[in-house]
Amino acid sequence: MVGEEDPVPKYFPREVVEQSLQDPQLERYQGVKEEYLVEAKSCPNCKAPPDKLRWVYVREAPQPSERSGAHSNREGYLLICGACHLQVDFFCERR
Ligand SMILES: [Zn+2]
Repeated sequence: MVGEEDPVPKYFPREVVEQSLQDPQLERYQGVKEEYLVEAKSCPNCKAPPDKLRWVYVREAPQPSERSGAHSNREGYLLICGACHLQVDFFCERR
């Protein structure tokens, strides 16, 4: 049965996003929004333009079970639609 559940996170798990929202260090990245605005998608659900979406700089913590030195911690700008709780777009800065 599906329906009442929140949409499945597209790019990052919810915990990662929430963690990033609370990290004051990540606020300084907000300035480059204009750079990405031209490429950013609108919300597929409510058609909110990227300008109206929430821009969050997300940094994924390195996995504790790191194997063979492979780093999988991505970071970049995540666009979230506040109304739909949808991860609309992601611009990777580093992987
Ligand atoms: Zn939306």
